[in-house]
Amino acid sequence: MLQARLAPGLAAASRCLRSASRGELPVAAGRGAGAEAGLVRSRASPPRCCSGVGRKWIKPTGRETGIQTYNSLSRSKEPLILANAGVATWYSCGPTVYDHAHLGHACSYVRFDIIRRIITKVFGNQVVMVMGITDIDDKIIKRANEMNISPLALARVYEEDFKQDMAALKVLPPTVYMRVTENIPQIISFIERIMASGHAYATSKGNVYFDVKSRGERYGKLTSVYPDVQEEMVDSDKRHVKDFALWKAAKPQELYWASPWGKGRPGWHIECSTISSTVFGSQLDIHTGGIDLAFPHHENEIAQSEVYHQCEQWGNYFLHSGHLLIKGSQEKMSKSLKNYITIKDFLTKNSADEFRMFCLRSKYRSAIEFGDDSMNDAKNLLQAISSFISDANAYMKGQLVCDPIKEDVLWEMLANTKANVKAAFADDFDTSRAVAAIMDLIHHGNRQLKAVTKVTH
Ligand SMILES: [Zn+2]
Repeated sequence: MLQARLAPGLAAASRCLRSASRGELPVAAGRGAGAEAGLVRSRASPPRCCSGVGRKWIKPTGRETGIQTYNSLSRSKEPLILANAGVATWYSCGPTVYDHAHLGHACSYVRFDIIRRIITKVFGNQVVMVMGITDIDDKIIKRANEMNISPLALARVYEEDFKQDMAALKVLPPTVYMRVTENIPQIISFIERIMASGHAYATSKGNVYFDVKSRGERYGKLTSVYPDVQEEMVDSDKRHVKDFALWKAAKPQELYWASPWGKGRPGWHIECSTISSTVFGSQLDIHTGGIDLAFPHHENEIAQSEVYHQCEQWGNYFLHSGHLLIKGSQEKMSKSLKNYITIKDFLTKNSADEFRMFCLRSKYRSAIEFGDDSMNDAKNLLQAISSFISDANAYMKGQLVCDPIKEDVLWEMLANTKANVKAAFADDFDTSRAVAAIMDLIHHGNRQLKAVTKVTH
């Protein structure tokens, strides 16, 4: 039943979670899984309700990974502790599928793909990653109207397009993709429970809003935004300017779903809270997205989810990637600024490995400048690595004649480099330091491998 109802792959994610946690994690089941998920508690560790107040980050209980990561929730580096040993539960905000993805998107997904590979391959944990696909929203409806096709048809085209781009960039797919339009009953249940707890209200226009002031000082725990700041509200049926839509009444001729509040569709933030909770229940290790998602999107996700689960801390670690800036202008690459390069165009002249090296050379949290110089630097580094490997192979085959190699020195340097690379990864996934350590090893290797003559056969 569960497997038939939920998106393909979710069953696999659930199996993975169950086996890895020996049945101790909450796993949703059946209709209205979002509503039920919160009720199925972990047997191993009870929910952390009422264990603290306000905005302070609560250090999770669980197993240390040996990694320190910057956590946007505490605004400092923290030990990465997984609730279930060896398994990281990870929710990634996915794309809104109405057009081709651009390099700004690529940068965020590649950087988090690198982090995922470090967590799994270097530190030996499994990752169960869920990515939500926003396949209904204002931009999709607008574009579909312009093209005179249905919004869902448009969304399917660009969802497939996004997946192809990610594959071309060698980004591992999430354990499961979950579409918003396939989780509407769960979203409605989620909103109903928030309303029942007194944190949301419906209006006569058929909209439902989250009541931000009802959260008190807990609203703003991620981004230090205070709900009581005076701002002017224009033409809205909200009670307060920072209140945000959980459910939007449909306009005439718009795609809609029936709900207790009339015909409409979900607001943006509620999608991610519901989808994450449907799979992972009341607790999540890692939540990621670009830095511009921190406010209001992640702040609002936190408010909704903590009200829904009645817990003090839903997501334990929020990681945000820095912007991709256009060299010289200091503008971030974005659709609205019309300064973007699509992933497809980029890959006609550059390779996925070159882009990945470009990403590796900066810390994932930093803004990164994109331009010919930085891409050329990345290409040169890759070239240096491959010519070193080729020389080393030639030496091993006796095809490269050079002065005697001090192997003991190289072995020692290799061991040191391995340790330095791992230490750099453990320090908030510092890939630029790891690349520097490898280039240093190559530099020393090259000095020893300096060919007297290259023997050709
Ligand atoms: Zn999201």
